[in-house]
Amino acid sequence: MRAVQYRVIGAHPEVVTIDKPEPGPGQIRLRVTAAGLCHSDEFVMNLPAERYNFPLPMTLGHEGAGVVDALGAGVSGVELGDSVAVYGPWGCGLCHACAQGKENYCNRAAELGIHPPGLGAQGALAEYMIIDDVRHLVPLGDLDPVDAVALTDAGLTPYHAIKAAMSVLTPGSTAVVIGAGGLGHMGIQLLRALTGATIIALDIDKDKLRLATEVGAHHVAPSGPDAPQFIRQLTHGDGAEAVFDFVGIPATVEIARQSIARDGIIHIVGIGGGILPAGFFSIPYGASVRTPYWGSRSELMEVFDLARTGKIKVHNERFTIEQAPEAYERLKAGTILGRAVVVP
Ligand code: NAD
Ligand code: ZN
Ligand code: ZN
Repeated sequence: MRAVQYRVIGAHPEVVTIDKPEPGPGQIRLRVTAAGLCHSDEFVMNLPAERYNFPLPMTLGHEGAGVVDALGAGVSGVELGDSVAVYGPWGCGLCHACAQGKENYCNRAAELGIHPPGLGAQGALAEYMIIDDVRHLVPLGDLDPVDAVALTDAGLTPYHAIKAAMSVLTPGSTAVVIGAGGLGHMGIQLLRALTGATIIALDIDKDKLRLATEVGAHHVAPSGPDAPQFIRQLTHGDGAEAVFDFVGIPATVEIARQSIARDGIIHIVGIGGGILPAGFFSIPYGASVRTPYWGSRSELMEVFDLARTGKIKVHNERFTIEQAPEAYERLKAGTILGRAVVVP
Protein backbone atom coordinates (compact mmCIF):
# COMPACT_ATOMS: atom_id res chain seq x y z
CA MET A 1 0.00 0.00 0.00
CA ARG A 2 1.03 3.64 -0.34
CA ALA A 3 1.78 5.69 2.77
CA VAL A 4 3.14 9.15 3.57
CA GLN A 5 6.04 8.72 5.95
CA TYR A 6 8.48 10.80 7.91
CA ARG A 7 11.68 8.77 7.45
CA VAL A 8 14.75 10.93 8.09
CA ILE A 9 15.08 13.67 10.75
CA GLY A 10 14.84 17.06 9.07
CA ALA A 11 13.89 15.64 5.65
CA HIS A 12 10.58 16.11 3.81
CA PRO A 13 7.86 13.47 4.15
CA GLU A 14 7.91 10.81 1.42
CA VAL A 15 5.30 8.75 -0.40
CA VAL A 16 6.41 5.11 -0.12
CA THR A 17 5.04 1.64 -0.81
CA ILE A 18 4.95 -0.60 2.27
CA ASP A 19 3.22 -3.84 3.28
CA LYS A 20 -0.47 -3.68 4.06
CA PRO A 21 -0.65 -4.07 7.87
CA GLU A 22 -2.43 -7.03 9.51
CA PRO A 23 -4.57 -6.43 12.61
CA GLY A 24 -3.39 -8.31 15.72
CA PRO A 25 -5.70 -9.54 18.49
CA GLY A 26 -8.09 -6.77 19.54
CA GLN A 27 -7.07 -4.53 16.64
CA ILE A 28 -9.03 -3.22 13.67
CA ARG A 29 -7.79 -2.47 10.13
CA LEU A 30 -9.39 0.51 8.38
CA ARG A 31 -9.33 1.25 4.68
CA VAL A 32 -8.66 4.96 5.01
CA THR A 33 -11.29 7.20 3.41
CA ALA A 34 -9.77 10.54 4.48
CA ALA A 35 -6.88 11.93 6.55
CA GLY A 36 -6.28 15.51 7.66
CA LEU A 37 -2.98 17.41 7.84
CA CYS A 38 -2.33 19.32 11.07
CA HIS A 39 0.28 21.96 11.87
CA SER A 40 1.44 19.68 14.71
CA ASP A 41 2.84 17.33 12.03
CA GLU A 42 5.08 20.21 10.95
CA PHE A 43 6.11 20.69 14.59
CA VAL A 44 7.08 17.00 14.84
CA MET A 45 9.04 17.11 11.59
CA ASN A 46 10.97 20.14 12.83
CA LEU A 47 12.10 18.53 16.08
CA PRO A 48 15.86 18.04 16.41
CA ALA A 49 17.04 14.41 16.76
CA GLU A 50 17.54 14.72 20.55
CA ARG A 51 13.89 15.74 21.07
CA TYR A 52 12.32 13.36 18.52
CA ASN A 53 10.96 10.39 20.52
CA PHE A 54 8.86 8.68 17.85
CA PRO A 55 9.70 5.73 15.58
CA LEU A 56 11.29 6.20 12.16
CA PRO A 57 9.93 5.64 9.62
CA MET A 58 6.55 6.84 10.87
CA THR A 59 3.40 7.11 8.78
CA LEU A 60 1.99 10.59 9.43
CA GLY A 61 -1.60 11.65 10.05
CA HIS A 62 -3.51 11.91 13.34
CA GLU A 63 -6.85 12.89 11.81
CA GLY A 64 -8.28 9.73 10.26
CA ALA A 65 -11.50 8.24 8.93
CA GLY A 66 -12.06 4.90 7.25
CA VAL A 67 -14.16 1.87 6.56
CA VAL A 68 -13.71 -1.21 8.77
CA ASP A 69 -11.76 -3.60 6.52
CA ALA A 70 -10.53 -6.43 8.78
CA LEU A 71 -10.98 -7.44 12.42
CA GLY A 72 -8.33 -8.94 14.66
CA ALA A 73 -9.17 -11.86 16.97
CA GLY A 74 -11.75 -11.05 19.61
CA VAL A 75 -12.97 -7.71 18.22
CA SER A 76 -16.67 -7.01 18.53
CA GLY A 77 -18.75 -3.84 18.36
CA VAL A 78 -18.04 -2.89 14.74
CA GLU A 79 -18.85 -4.67 11.49
CA LEU A 80 -16.90 -4.92 8.28
CA GLY A 81 -17.90 -1.98 6.07
CA ASP A 82 -18.78 0.43 8.92
CA SER A 83 -17.81 4.05 8.23
CA VAL A 84 -15.92 5.36 11.26
CA ALA A 85 -13.67 8.15 12.47
CA VAL A 86 -10.61 7.66 14.64
CA TYR A 87 -10.52 9.16 18.14
CA GLY A 88 -6.83 10.09 18.13
CA PRO A 89 -5.60 10.77 21.68
CA TRP A 90 -5.19 7.13 22.64
CA GLY A 91 -4.91 6.41 26.37
CA CYS A 92 -4.73 3.32 28.57
CA GLY A 93 -8.53 2.99 28.83
CA LEU A 94 -8.37 2.11 32.53
CA CYS A 95 -7.20 5.12 34.57
CA HIS A 96 -9.54 7.71 36.12
CA ALA A 97 -9.18 10.15 33.22
CA CYS A 98 -9.78 7.41 30.64
CA ALA A 99 -12.79 6.16 32.61
CA GLN A 100 -14.34 9.59 31.96
CA GLY A 101 -13.52 9.34 28.25
CA LYS A 102 -10.74 11.93 28.68
CA GLU A 103 -8.03 9.78 27.13
CA ASN A 104 -6.36 13.05 26.07
CA TYR A 105 -5.39 13.44 29.74
CA CYS A 106 -4.42 9.80 30.40
CA ASN A 107 -1.64 9.72 32.98
CA ARG A 108 -0.38 6.29 31.99
CA ALA A 109 -0.16 6.45 28.18
CA ALA A 110 3.48 7.59 28.11
CA GLU A 111 4.69 5.01 30.64
CA LEU A 112 2.83 2.24 28.75
CA GLY A 113 4.22 3.37 25.39
CA ILE A 114 0.74 4.20 24.02
CA HIS A 115 0.85 6.92 21.34
CA PRO A 116 -1.72 8.48 19.00
CA PRO A 117 -1.63 7.38 15.37
CA GLY A 118 0.72 9.66 13.41
CA LEU A 119 2.25 10.92 16.67
CA GLY A 120 4.15 7.83 17.74
CA ALA A 121 1.99 5.03 16.30
CA GLN A 122 1.60 4.49 12.54
CA GLY A 123 -0.86 7.10 11.25
CA ALA A 124 -3.73 7.72 8.86
CA LEU A 125 -1.88 9.03 5.80
CA ALA A 126 -1.95 5.65 4.07
CA GLU A 127 -4.35 3.39 2.24
CA TYR A 128 -4.84 1.30 5.39
CA MET A 129 -4.24 1.86 9.10
CA ILE A 130 -4.39 -0.18 12.30
CA ILE A 131 -6.51 0.94 15.26
CA ASP A 132 -5.41 -0.43 18.64
CA ASP A 133 -8.89 -0.77 20.16
CA VAL A 134 -12.52 -0.57 19.05
CA ARG A 135 -12.93 2.09 21.78
CA HIS A 136 -11.03 4.49 19.52
CA LEU A 137 -13.61 4.39 16.73
CA VAL A 138 -16.64 6.65 16.51
CA PRO A 139 -19.32 5.74 13.93
CA LEU A 140 -19.71 8.41 11.26
CA GLY A 141 -23.15 7.31 10.14
CA ASP A 142 -24.40 9.70 7.47
CA LEU A 143 -21.47 12.14 7.81
CA ASP A 144 -19.23 12.35 4.74
CA PRO A 145 -15.74 11.17 5.83
CA VAL A 146 -13.90 13.83 3.79
CA ASP A 147 -15.99 16.58 5.38
CA ALA A 148 -15.84 15.05 8.85
CA VAL A 149 -12.25 13.86 9.21
CA ALA A 150 -10.78 17.18 10.42
CA LEU A 151 -13.44 17.37 13.11
CA THR A 152 -11.40 14.72 14.97
CA ASP A 153 -8.75 17.34 15.83
CA ALA A 154 -9.36 20.74 14.17
CA GLY A 155 -12.97 20.49 15.43
CA LEU A 156 -12.48 18.59 18.68
CA THR A 157 -9.55 20.64 20.06
CA PRO A 158 -11.27 24.07 19.87
CA TYR A 159 -14.53 22.47 21.08
CA HIS A 160 -12.78 21.12 24.19
CA ALA A 161 -11.23 24.55 24.88
CA ILE A 162 -14.47 26.46 24.34
CA LYS A 163 -16.43 24.08 26.58
CA ALA A 164 -13.99 24.88 29.38
CA ALA A 165 -14.62 28.61 28.92
CA MET A 166 -18.44 28.49 28.72
CA SER A 167 -18.82 30.05 32.19
CA VAL A 168 -17.40 33.34 30.89
CA LEU A 169 -18.80 33.19 27.35
CA THR A 170 -22.17 34.66 28.27
CA PRO A 171 -24.26 36.74 25.85
CA GLY A 172 -22.59 40.15 25.69
CA SER A 173 -19.12 38.67 26.19
CA THR A 174 -16.23 38.84 23.72
CA ALA A 175 -14.09 35.96 22.48
CA VAL A 176 -10.82 36.42 20.61
CA VAL A 177 -9.52 33.80 18.18
CA ILE A 178 -5.84 34.21 17.30
CA GLY A 179 -4.93 32.30 14.10
CA ALA A 180 -7.78 31.51 11.70
CA GLY A 181 -6.23 28.35 10.24
CA GLY A 182 -7.38 24.73 10.52
CA LEU A 183 -8.28 24.94 14.22
CA GLY A 184 -9.12 28.65 14.27
CA HIS A 185 -11.72 28.61 11.49
CA MET A 186 -13.50 25.81 13.37
CA GLY A 187 -13.13 27.68 16.69
CA ILE A 188 -15.00 30.66 15.20
CA GLN A 189 -17.88 28.45 14.01
CA LEU A 190 -18.03 26.62 17.34
CA LEU A 191 -18.17 29.91 19.26
CA ARG A 192 -21.04 30.97 16.98
CA ALA A 193 -22.86 27.69 17.48
CA LEU A 194 -22.39 27.42 21.26
CA THR A 195 -22.32 30.98 22.60
CA GLY A 196 -23.71 34.48 22.18
CA ALA A 197 -20.23 36.00 22.33
CA THR A 198 -18.93 38.63 19.93
CA ILE A 199 -16.02 37.05 18.05
CA ILE A 200 -12.85 38.90 17.09
CA ALA A 201 -10.41 37.01 14.84
CA LEU A 202 -6.75 37.93 14.37
CA ASP A 203 -4.39 36.57 11.72
CA ILE A 204 -1.33 37.75 9.80
CA ASP A 205 -2.80 36.67 6.46
CA LYS A 206 -5.56 38.55 4.59
CA ASP A 207 -7.07 35.41 3.05
CA LYS A 208 -7.38 33.80 6.50
CA LEU A 209 -9.11 36.92 7.79
CA ARG A 210 -11.52 36.75 4.85
CA LEU A 211 -12.27 33.10 5.71
CA ALA A 212 -12.72 34.13 9.37
CA THR A 213 -15.42 36.62 8.34
CA GLU A 214 -17.06 34.07 6.04
CA VAL A 215 -17.34 31.51 8.84
CA GLY A 216 -18.76 33.93 11.39
CA ALA A 217 -16.23 36.32 12.99
CA HIS A 218 -17.90 39.64 13.84
CA HIS A 219 -14.63 41.60 13.64
CA VAL A 220 -11.24 40.79 12.13
CA ALA A 221 -7.89 42.54 12.51
CA PRO A 222 -4.23 41.99 11.67
CA SER A 223 -2.40 40.13 14.41
CA GLY A 224 0.29 42.43 15.82
CA PRO A 225 1.21 44.85 18.58
CA ASP A 226 -1.87 47.03 17.86
CA ALA A 227 -4.35 44.17 18.27
CA PRO A 228 -4.83 44.50 22.08
CA GLN A 229 -5.78 48.16 21.68
CA PHE A 230 -8.31 47.22 18.96
CA ILE A 231 -9.80 44.62 21.30
CA ARG A 232 -9.89 47.04 24.26
CA GLN A 233 -11.68 49.64 22.08
CA LEU A 234 -14.33 47.13 20.98
CA THR A 235 -14.89 46.04 24.59
CA HIS A 236 -15.04 49.58 26.10
CA GLY A 237 -11.73 49.01 27.85
CA ASP A 238 -12.72 45.75 29.54
CA GLY A 239 -10.87 43.26 27.32
CA ALA A 240 -12.13 39.90 26.10
CA GLU A 241 -13.65 37.34 28.45
CA ALA A 242 -11.93 34.51 26.55
CA VAL A 243 -8.90 34.36 24.27
CA PHE A 244 -8.13 31.26 22.22
CA ASP A 245 -4.57 31.41 20.91
CA PHE A 246 -4.26 28.91 18.05
CA VAL A 247 -0.67 30.01 17.33
CA GLY A 248 0.97 30.09 20.75
CA ILE A 249 4.18 31.90 19.84
CA PRO A 250 5.66 34.57 22.17
CA ALA A 251 4.04 37.39 20.13
CA THR A 252 0.53 35.89 20.29
CA VAL A 253 0.57 34.91 23.97
CA GLU A 254 1.56 38.53 24.62
CA ILE A 255 -1.51 39.67 22.65
CA ALA A 256 -3.59 37.27 24.75
CA ARG A 257 -2.10 38.63 27.98
CA GLN A 258 -2.80 42.25 27.01
CA SER A 259 -6.34 41.51 25.73
CA ILE A 260 -7.84 39.38 28.46
CA ALA A 261 -10.51 40.80 30.79
CA ARG A 262 -10.64 40.48 34.57
CA ASP A 263 -11.77 36.95 35.47
CA GLY A 264 -11.21 35.94 31.84
CA ILE A 265 -9.80 32.66 30.51
CA ILE A 266 -6.84 32.38 28.14
CA HIS A 267 -6.45 29.11 26.25
CA ILE A 268 -3.04 28.63 24.65
CA VAL A 269 -3.80 25.94 22.08
CA GLY A 270 -0.99 26.51 19.58
CA ILE A 271 2.32 24.86 20.44
CA GLY A 272 4.57 27.68 19.24
CA GLY A 273 6.58 27.74 22.48
CA GLY A 274 5.23 31.06 23.82
CA ILE A 275 5.28 31.28 27.63
CA LEU A 276 2.79 33.49 29.44
CA PRO A 277 3.84 34.52 32.96
CA ALA A 278 0.72 34.15 35.09
CA GLY A 279 0.71 36.04 38.37
CA PHE A 280 -0.31 39.32 39.97
CA PHE A 281 0.42 42.40 37.81
CA SER A 282 1.04 40.16 34.77
CA ILE A 283 -2.54 39.12 34.06
CA PRO A 284 -5.70 40.84 35.40
CA TYR A 285 -7.35 39.80 38.68
CA GLY A 286 -9.12 36.47 38.38
CA ALA A 287 -7.75 35.63 34.94
CA SER A 288 -6.57 32.10 34.24
CA VAL A 289 -4.38 30.45 31.63
CA ARG A 290 -4.88 26.91 30.29
CA THR A 291 -2.99 24.69 27.86
CA PRO A 292 -5.73 22.34 26.61
CA TYR A 293 -4.79 19.21 24.71
CA TRP A 294 -7.14 17.66 22.09
CA GLY A 295 -10.48 16.48 23.63
CA SER A 296 -12.47 13.63 25.09
CA ARG A 297 -14.29 10.78 23.31
CA SER A 298 -17.73 12.08 24.25
CA GLU A 299 -16.78 15.58 23.09
CA LEU A 300 -15.89 14.11 19.67
CA MET A 301 -19.36 12.59 19.48
CA GLU A 302 -20.83 16.00 20.36
CA VAL A 303 -18.78 17.67 17.62
CA PHE A 304 -20.13 15.14 15.09
CA ASP A 305 -23.68 15.79 16.28
CA LEU A 306 -23.13 19.52 15.86
CA ALA A 307 -21.83 18.93 12.32
CA ARG A 308 -25.03 16.94 11.59
CA THR A 309 -27.09 20.06 12.39
CA GLY A 310 -25.13 21.97 9.73
CA LYS A 311 -23.91 24.58 12.24
CA ILE A 312 -20.22 23.78 11.70
CA LYS A 313 -18.45 22.79 8.50
CA VAL A 314 -14.76 22.26 7.78
CA HIS A 315 -13.41 24.28 4.87
CA ASN A 316 -11.43 21.54 3.08
CA GLU A 317 -8.84 21.48 0.36
CA ARG A 318 -8.46 17.95 -1.10
CA PHE A 319 -5.20 16.22 -2.07
CA THR A 320 -4.22 12.72 -3.25
CA ILE A 321 -1.61 10.66 -1.36
CA GLU A 322 0.95 11.57 -4.04
CA GLN A 323 0.22 15.27 -3.45
CA ALA A 324 0.59 15.02 0.36
CA PRO A 325 4.23 16.24 0.49
CA GLU A 326 3.18 19.28 -1.58
CA ALA A 327 0.23 19.84 0.80
CA TYR A 328 2.67 19.87 3.75
CA GLU A 329 4.80 22.45 1.91
CA ARG A 330 1.71 24.62 1.48
CA LEU A 331 0.74 24.16 5.14
CA LYS A 332 4.23 25.32 6.13
CA ALA A 333 4.00 28.30 3.75
CA GLY A 334 0.60 29.20 5.22
CA THR A 335 -1.34 28.94 1.95
CA ILE A 336 -3.91 26.29 2.97
CA LEU A 337 -7.34 27.79 3.67
CA GLY A 338 -9.06 25.72 6.34
CA ARG A 339 -7.77 22.12 6.37
CA ALA A 340 -5.79 20.06 3.87
CA VAL A 341 -7.42 16.62 3.57
CA VAL A 342 -5.85 13.66 1.79
CA VAL A 343 -8.25 11.28 0.06
CA PRO A 344 -6.40 8.04 -0.74
P1 NAD B 1 -2.66 26.16 10.60
O1 NAD B 1 -1.35 26.29 9.94
O2 NAD B 1 -3.80 25.56 9.86
O3 NAD B 1 -3.17 27.60 11.11
C1 NAD B 1 -2.34 28.51 11.76
C2 NAD B 1 -2.92 29.91 11.49
O4 NAD B 1 -2.21 30.85 12.28
C3 NAD B 1 -2.76 30.36 10.04
O5 NAD B 1 -3.98 30.91 9.58
C4 NAD B 1 -1.68 31.44 10.12
O6 NAD B 1 -1.82 32.44 9.11
C5 NAD B 1 -1.93 31.99 11.50
N1 NAD B 1 -0.80 32.69 12.10
C6 NAD B 1 0.53 32.43 12.00
N2 NAD B 1 1.22 33.33 12.73
C7 NAD B 1 0.32 34.14 13.32
C8 NAD B 1 0.40 35.25 14.22
N3 NAD B 1 1.59 35.72 14.64
N4 NAD B 1 -0.75 35.81 14.63
C9 NAD B 1 -1.96 35.36 14.22
N5 NAD B 1 -2.10 34.35 13.35
C10 NAD B 1 -0.97 33.74 12.93
O7 NAD B 1 -2.41 25.36 11.97
P2 NAD B 1 -3.43 24.42 12.80
O8 NAD B 1 -3.35 23.03 12.26
O9 NAD B 1 -4.71 25.11 12.93
O10 NAD B 1 -2.70 24.39 14.22
C11 NAD B 1 -2.62 25.57 15.01
C12 NAD B 1 -1.72 25.33 16.21
O11 NAD B 1 -2.37 24.47 17.13
C13 NAD B 1 -0.39 24.66 15.89
O12 NAD B 1 0.59 25.18 16.78
C14 NAD B 1 -0.66 23.20 16.21
O13 NAD B 1 0.51 22.49 16.45
C15 NAD B 1 -1.51 23.37 17.43
N6 NAD B 1 -2.40 22.25 17.79
C16 NAD B 1 -2.58 22.05 19.12
C17 NAD B 1 -3.45 21.08 19.56
C18 NAD B 1 -3.69 20.87 21.01
O14 NAD B 1 -4.25 19.83 21.38
N7 NAD B 1 -3.32 21.79 21.87
C19 NAD B 1 -4.15 20.28 18.63
C20 NAD B 1 -3.95 20.53 17.26
C21 NAD B 1 -3.08 21.54 16.86
ZN1 ZN C 1 -3.33 18.02 15.36
ZN1 ZN D 1 -5.60 6.19 30.98
